[in-house]
Amino acid sequence: MGLMSKLFGKGQEIPEAAPGVSLCPHTTMTPRWDRAEDIGHEDRATGWHCEGCGEMFTAEEGRQIRDQAGDRLRDTLPTG
Ligand SMILES: [Zn+2]
Repeated sequence: MGLMSKLFGKGQEIPEAAPGVSLCPHTTMTPRWDRAEDIGHEDRATGWHCEGCGEMFTAEEGRQIRDQAGDRLRDTLPTG
């Protein structure tokens, strides 16, 4: 009897991330494909999944995020 109420009670205490605010840099994006024949072609990905925060993105969003992440990563690389 007490198990469910315990689970629910605990669940309600888990603090949720503030909506619209993400501290995740989305640098661990993995592509998702709907069609088996597209697998392996990142430009044909139907969606992107961030391993860091677990969020799903559309193909277009994923491309933009990866572009920005790429710039950021490039900036942090030692030059010369
Ligand atoms: Zn993320």
